[in-house]
Amino acid sequence: MLIDKFGRNINYLRISVTQKCNFRCRYCMPNTPFEWVPRENLLSFEEMFSFVKVAIDKGIEKIRITGGEPLIRRDIAKFVKMISDYAPGIDLALTTNGYYLKNYAKDLAKAGLKRINMSLDSLRPERAKYIAQKGVLYNVLEGLEAALEVGLKVKLNTVVLRGINDDEICHLIEFAREKGVQIRFIEFMENTHAQNLKGVKSNEILKIIGEKYQISPLQKQATSPASLYALDDGYTFGIIDPHKHDFCASCNRLRLSAEGHLIPCLYFEDALSIKEAVRAGDIAKASEILAQVLENKPEKNRWEIGAQNEISSRAFYQTGG
Ligand code: SAM
Ligand code: SF4
Repeated sequence: MLIDKFGRNINYLRISVTQKCNFRCRYCMPNTPFEWVPRENLLSFEEMFSFVKVAIDKGIEKIRITGGEPLIRRDIAKFVKMISDYAPGIDLALTTNGYYLKNYAKDLAKAGLKRINMSLDSLRPERAKYIAQKGVLYNVLEGLEAALEVGLKVKLNTVVLRGINDDEICHLIEFAREKGVQIRFIEFMENTHAQNLKGVKSNEILKIIGEKYQISPLQKQATSPASLYALDDGYTFGIIDPHKHDFCASCNRLRLSAEGHLIPCLYFEDALSIKEAVRAGDIAKASEILAQVLENKPEKNRWEIGAQNEISSRAFYQTGG
């Protein structure tokens, strides 16, 4: 088991397989980054997998593949298969914008993927286009259907932006309920890349839903970032509020970036690289770095320790959210 110095069991690894994306969501990557990481600096899937094996052997039980957009990286289904063949019981999931899911859903399910989280910020084509800065809705909805058809368990994620999609909250819930999938509303997290946007706080999101539906809070799962609620008919939805106090106390994650940075906390800049170790095939060194990053994992993120004015310069497309 990987227990950090605050007694948390770190059993969840999020792997960002690429920083690149075919969308330019205004809250994440509004402009094409000035410099992409050169290709030779990216870890190959074989290199990532050699670290994944170490992490699984040490106690990682849950892996999420994310990005950027993971489906733009060639051979993504092969990477899924490497992990699921090595650890068939592992909780293996992927987060995607859904645009290419129609092409990959079948291969991903066959490779052993069980769960998908998909971003869906609007059901109005023009608005979805405004947010992603590309006409995306038709492909995204086709991707959702394809995922459901092959039996993948799907959750939808919506970042709620004031004055942009906050009037669609109930419509999105109704859509998700009709599809039989859970939706989670994510509070917008400020970062230096996303300018001139305002989020909507969780209590306001609940108020909007409460004006139309009777809502009951449900018991929160210990390590899930989402607070869950049920409508009268039993349909459950979630709200992810990173500003909330209990977010860090139950944090069970480490993050691996596409370049091989092992990141202890989304809001801390300090990370150590496993790149040289895996390129040299030095598994003992990779294991040592894992132990060091665990040691570096802070108790609380910067918002909680009072540095609210320090907005992270690391955007979600770099860390995978
Ligand atoms: N491209 C994939 C997608 O969009 O689902 C995976 C990567 S994306 C960075 C992972 C998650 O981060 C998405 O659910 C996205 O909505 C969320 N995200 C990105 N920027 C965010 C921000 N500033 N605040 C809150 N959530 C954000
Ligand atoms: Fe791309 Fe996902 Fe970021 Fe949107 S949220 S720009 S889809 S990485």
